[in-house]
Amino acid sequence: MSEWEIVVGLEVHVELATETKLFSHAPNQFGDDPNTNITPVCLGLPGSLPVLNRRAVELAMTIGIALGCEIQPSVFHRKNYFYPDMPKDYQVSQYDQPICIDGALTLPNGTEIGVERAHLEEDAGKTTHLGGEDGRIHGASEALVDYNRAGVPLLEIVSRPDIRSAEDARAYVEELRSILLATEASEARLEEGSMRVDANVSVRPIGSSDLRTRCEIKNLNSLRSLQRAITYEAQRHIQLYESGDAPDQETRHWAEDGKTYTLRSKEEANDYRYFPEPDLVLLDPDDVWIERIVSSMPELPSQQRERLTALAGVDLETAASIVNRGLSRLVLGALDHGADATRATNHALQNLTVSGASDLDPKLFAGLIEMETSGLITATQAKTILVEMVETGQEAASIAANRGFESMDSSELEKIVDAAIADNQEAWSKFCAGEEKVQGVFVGAVMKATSGQADGKAVSAILRARRG
Ligand code: MN
Repeated sequence: MSEWEIVVGLEVHVELATETKLFSHAPNQFGDDPNTNITPVCLGLPGSLPVLNRRAVELAMTIGIALGCEIQPSVFHRKNYFYPDMPKDYQVSQYDQPICIDGALTLPNGTEIGVERAHLEEDAGKTTHLGGEDGRIHGASEALVDYNRAGVPLLEIVSRPDIRSAEDARAYVEELRSILLATEASEARLEEGSMRVDANVSVRPIGSSDLRTRCEIKNLNSLRSLQRAITYEAQRHIQLYESGDAPDQETRHWAEDGKTYTLRSKEEANDYRYFPEPDLVLLDPDDVWIERIVSSMPELPSQQRERLTALAGVDLETAASIVNRGLSRLVLGALDHGADATRATNHALQNLTVSGASDLDPKLFAGLIEMETSGLITATQAKTILVEMVETGQEAASIAANRGFESMDSSELEKIVDAAIADNQEAWSKFCAGEEKVQGVFVGAVMKATSGQADGKAVSAILRARRG
């Protein structure tokens, strides 16, 4: 029995964050009532003509440049197929001349994954099947079609088959998602379908360099599903090979029972009868346009991680976690305003799990940390203020004043600590004998007496001073 290696390539469809659709002025808006965001172009009505969305091209180039791709002249093609959510019976896509080619994405662990291409195309509408199980077509009695999504701009990013584990596949999608958020090119929500991942999976004996038959897995709408599906599918291939059989090339569906099922045998490119879209001209961005995008590129996740490790002194894993939560701009911005690095990263990791945290003004955040550092508020108070600050956008000082968070007078705190010692004589003897863990008894009593307003560190300092 040989040792096997997993070979994965990912195709990621990303909805671009434009105001309008790829070829019409219909709003590109998720969650509206069905069939309200449509124009004759989205419905493919006779005589309607596409007009290319300039912003979609810019976002496609932004993503391409962030992935180190070359931007080249590109051609739109018609990809012909019948599907009820495609009223034109073809999808306008890019075929042999995509806008972005030959890039790479470097995972936080240093592994480089090639990006073969990224091409612009329009999304299809959405069909909902009724009467069957889990909205599946099998056993359904009716189908409802919503064309709001028809014509939404997509960039399909195709990696090379360079991924060697389910973990790296997950890391690739996470890193790509962070890049999309940093460039504001897409909302990149797997659960809403604004980022959709298909995995091409095969296996081969370790040491071999040929590519064996692959299966394409669809319906991977979470990072967890992606990881589980790849692991399952690779195992299925290994079992087939080891029993003297082989997998068929096909498209498979990931089901919630933790298995993949045949969806259809894989179609070949020539099944689609691609031909150049006669209603659109060559897309050939000039150097000035490309240069403008290059020069307005924001700080990318890899650069953010680098600065976080350098400036905040955190390890790469912590830095990655801050970046993946979308909080790097906030933390780095606060550091630029002179905030204490440890407090800033701790808040990001522990106290900023509330929604809207990534939009907080770094200057306000730095102001809060400054109050905490100078002892004006306690850690507990800082946490409370932070949550309110995310909600209201008010300054830390005014929230503290409104809530009556004034720093406790040190002589007042000493009195409360002395009372806690008097009330807990037995624990005090143990503490004096060097039993550190009973300190919690006093801190707890002081916190209770002050309704959590006392600074734990200050209490600890007083206790040590009293013990002598
Ligand atoms: Mn596609």
